[in-house]
Amino acid sequence: MNVPGILALQGGFAAHEKILKEMGYSPILVKNEKDLETIDRLILPGGESTVMIRLLNESKLKGSLIQRVREGMPLFGTCAGLILLSLELIGLGLEPLGLMDIKVKRNAYGRQIDSFETSLSWRGMTLPALFIRAPQICEYGPKVEVLISHKGVPVLVRQGKMLAASFHPELNKSTVLHRYFMEF
Ligand code: GLN
Repeated sequence: MNVPGILALQGGFAAHEKILKEMGYSPILVKNEKDLETIDRLILPGGESTVMIRLLNESKLKGSLIQRVREGMPLFGTCAGLILLSLELIGLGLEPLGLMDIKVKRNAYGRQIDSFETSLSWRGMTLPALFIRAPQICEYGPKVEVLISHKGVPVLVRQGKMLAASFHPELNKSTVLHRYFMEF
């Protein structure tokens, strides 16, 4: 069994659901602790991280989610999802999940109009990458492996079975990163 879940409290969970379905999986939209019990791995989507953090803080899901990841459940955060799984959110008095040893700044590339699309190369492949009010990883600890950088800034990182992208791999036709994550 390899059932992926997508946190579905807010944000762009539907695009991840679509891509996983196209890949042949039956993803679960995770809204509560019960849903969490039915999945083998979890994607934290893009969206509005402040809203998602607040919703998580108000629900019992937060504690169970942290526990499952500490027990080894693979986790993939994209854009706001990367903010969620970080250790520290610079300049904002909100506590993220604190799972990956990265310190992150929200909206570090500017406003909505500063959003951009680029191509990243990884393992001999070209990945289209959309950055939408994207966060930046400002600091990372020794367990964090930088898989892709863009202009000297890490944009895809891995720590054990956790993967985080500051862009949106679900918003284009490439399934490369979802396939990579599904094999964790
Ligand atoms: N700027 C958003 C935030 O901080 C993230 C944007 C996104 O997920 N596309 O929550």
